[in-house]
Amino acid sequence: MTVLSQHRLKQVREAIADSGADALVLTHLPNIFYLCGFSGSNAILLVLGDAIHLFTDGRYTIQAREEAPQASVHIVRNPLAEACGEFLRSRSPRKRMRFAFESASLSVVEWTRLKKAAGRGIEWKPTTELMERIREVKSAEELDAMRRSARLASEVISEAPDFVRPGVAELDVAAEIDYRLRRKGASGPSFETIVASGPRSALPHARPTEKRLQKNELVVLDLGAILRHYCSDLTRTVFLGRAPARVRRWYKAVEQAQEAAQHALRAGVAAGSVDRAARRLLNQHGLGQYFVHGTGHGLGIEIHEGPRVGRSQKQEIRAGNVVTLEPGIYVEGVGGIRIEDEVAVHADRTEVLTTAPRGLLEL
Ligand code: ZN
Ligand code: ZN
Repeated sequence: MTVLSQHRLKQVREAIADSGADALVLTHLPNIFYLCGFSGSNAILLVLGDAIHLFTDGRYTIQAREEAPQASVHIVRNPLAEACGEFLRSRSPRKRMRFAFESASLSVVEWTRLKKAAGRGIEWKPTTELMERIREVKSAEELDAMRRSARLASEVISEAPDFVRPGVAELDVAAEIDYRLRRKGASGPSFETIVASGPRSALPHARPTEKRLQKNELVVLDLGAILRHYCSDLTRTVFLGRAPARVRRWYKAVEQAQEAAQHALRAGVAAGSVDRAARRLLNQHGLGQYFVHGTGHGLGIEIHEGPRVGRSQKQEIRAGNVVTLEPGIYVEGVGGIRIEDEVAVHADRTEVLTTAPRGLLEL
């Protein structure tokens, strides 16, 4: 086993003990990947004493052994939850054991199978975010992958002048972005690329449509890459033509709100204080009512992880966190402006991972 995975396993064992359990059944695939390196689409991982047992199906026989050499691999034909339960029963522990499981990612069907197959000798303890809290603190290797992923997304968005222009459909712009992400080495986009133009840019989570970009419109581009299993997330807002004074004013306000959040972000503060710093700034500009979502979110193996940077979040920001700072304003019938960057928190400083220029781009 590598030093890295030894360290992770130690942390997980401590978390299992803290939750009052003796062992852990993982069903959330990103957590399974984090702990053993297996990236297939069907798996259960069992953390039992010093061993980790990976249950998957015949499609992954070769891949599981390659990706997770430190795990005992069980290739099974029946449903994974049933196979895992049967394995536990066959171990027939002398004392009653307490197993933690991930209540947010185990369906009722699987849960029923697991319990039934495992038999009565086991006490089940639902947990949430046991692994997620560990994953929020990135290692040096993870930060390196995230830097590269952020740089890749930044390169693509810096090329926007090549393909964002009046007459092109939102869907075509999104396809061009996805193509360029892959051409630069991404295994894919980290979420469905957002291209929202004109009044549609006032929808924070718009899906690209057939609508063609027009002159004198705002266009919000929100994209990210998956590179070496790590996500990036970045938003820029473009104006097609010369922006009127009102749009410039709004853009400046959002830019300042992001700067305020970045100033507030450091190890030891409550996540909520970072959100409130951005919100205060937009309130000062009289735009607070148009800021309809939280300031940011953690990311890593998944596009949305902890810590959440929202108004009432008491959770402490820790060294090793990577979060987005993405204040925005959305004015119905007119349009929206959002600026999103990724920032890594170190013990004594912060580091912006996204490298694309941040000013208003007029095309
Ligand atoms: Zn985004
Ligand atoms: Zn985001």
